[in-house]
Amino acid sequence: MMVKEAALAQLRTALRGSVLTSGDVGYDAARQIFNAMIDCRPALVARCATAADIRACVGFAQAHGLVVSVRSGGHNVSGKAVVDGGLMIDLSLMKGCRIDPVHRTARAEPGLTLAEFDHNCQVFGLATTMGAVSPTGIAGLTLGGGFGWLCSKYGLTCDNLLSVDIVTADGRLRTASPLEHPDLFWAVCGGGGNVGIVTSFEYRLHEVGPVLGGSVVFPFAKAKDVLAFYDDFAPSCPDELSVNAALWTTADGVPAVGIGVAWCGALDLGERVLRPLQTFETPLADTIAPMRYVDRQRASDAFFPPGRRHYWKAGWQRRLAPAGIDVIVEFAARRPSPYTRLSLQQMHGAAARVPPSATAFVHRHDQWEVQMLSQWLEPADDEVNIGWARECYAALEPHLERAVYVNMLGGDETSRIREAYGANYERLAAIKTIYDPTNFFRSNQNVATTPRLN
Ligand SMILES: Cc1cc2nc3c(=O)[nH]c(=O)nc-3n(C[C@H](O)[C@H](O)[C@H](O)COP(=O)(O)OP(=O)(O)OC[C@H]3O[C@@H](n4cnc5c(N)ncnc54)[C@H](O)[C@@H]3O)c2cc1C
Repeated sequence: MMVKEAALAQLRTALRGSVLTSGDVGYDAARQIFNAMIDCRPALVARCATAADIRACVGFAQAHGLVVSVRSGGHNVSGKAVVDGGLMIDLSLMKGCRIDPVHRTARAEPGLTLAEFDHNCQVFGLATTMGAVSPTGIAGLTLGGGFGWLCSKYGLTCDNLLSVDIVTADGRLRTASPLEHPDLFWAVCGGGGNVGIVTSFEYRLHEVGPVLGGSVVFPFAKAKDVLAFYDDFAPSCPDELSVNAALWTTADGVPAVGIGVAWCGALDLGERVLRPLQTFETPLADTIAPMRYVDRQRASDAFFPPGRRHYWKAGWQRRLAPAGIDVIVEFAARRPSPYTRLSLQQMHGAAARVPPSATAFVHRHDQWEVQMLSQWLEPADDEVNIGWARECYAALEPHLERAVYVNMLGGDETSRIREAYGANYERLAAIKTIYDPTNFFRSNQNVATTPRLN
């Protein structure tokens, strides 16, 4: 290791948290993330407890020329949270959360999962947009944008961000908000961790729950009709409804197509809005019912257990034209793994109405995110499962926008990073150049610093 024992001892003394090296108890568990494909060996893992720990880690890495990676929930499939030979700044133990029920705000640390955050908020009947699988981390999700069951009504997660505390590459802890360092705040809202390490997030909350949630499931043979119906039905629905379609294999081994829903408004109105979905075709199952918001948030967790291997690809599609639907159904029919899903997650309503230049997250349209979520168990099956996702993407590409959600980018998709930011890329690069001129934060979906300012 490049770091001398004396320096390492100093780092250990400086932190409230701990530092692990290869061979230490807990090192292997700490470097393990959601995607079992990722097997990186950092030189050091700093298990931070406080913002001061994070500052100390940034200073230490700068002094010793170490590449840093930042791990919060560890759910990003690209695996950028962990880096070979570098310093992994592990925030997963930082789980502080304080709700202000009067002003309807939350102050949350980056180690919280969605489940933990939602639980804290729902004590007061409050929530804000988070993702649809509850062990995901709030930090990476928020920094990339964040969409889920509340986004049609309340916008993306980053649209509900009021401020952050952030350690920048110079080691300073700053507060960024629309009033303080507004450029930095703009870049935090969708910029994916390029401009610093967020030590706490302040969110706007809303009164939420109970919701009407569940799924209507149809035989796979009806997939084309169901997706055509979905494309007509969902974009015209009120903002209170968010939907997500999937083609997958049920726990009983039956291929199926389903439409998951969450309605966050008055329940009787929701029942009326959802009736066409429940009656246009004879379903195999219909689980739509009033439920606690946290139960809606957890309902898809079983499809994404820890320990599986993942290779994902995704892209945005404005409307589901019949030719595109044909490709989706053809590839769904020949998934090599029963755990693999094709999903069409909706962007609609409030999330779609924010001007594209208002935050670094640029893709503001009524549209679908088509997700090829390849997952399997054995390393011997890597080639066939990765091959399926790549072929599926290649066949769908003519039907997709040249645009991608940064949080769905794979580790091998550097060439698509510009597509993640579109017209906002240059502004994000310019802000990164101000706050991180040497590209110190580069184990991420990296936005290059602007060369002429270096
Ligand atoms: C099963 C599953 C379901 C998902 N569902 C949704 C969904 O419904 N909606 C949605 O929007 N997304 C969804 N995602 C994508 C998810 O938003 C991203 O994977 C996100 O990056 C996860 O955040 P994390 O903190 O768990 O990840 P990590 O892997 O810990 O972090 C990802 C990256 O974010 C950056 N980062 C993390 N924390 C910080 C920090 N504190 N400061 C600065 N940079 C940081 C780093 O670059 C890091 O490499 C899902 C992912 C999975 C695996």
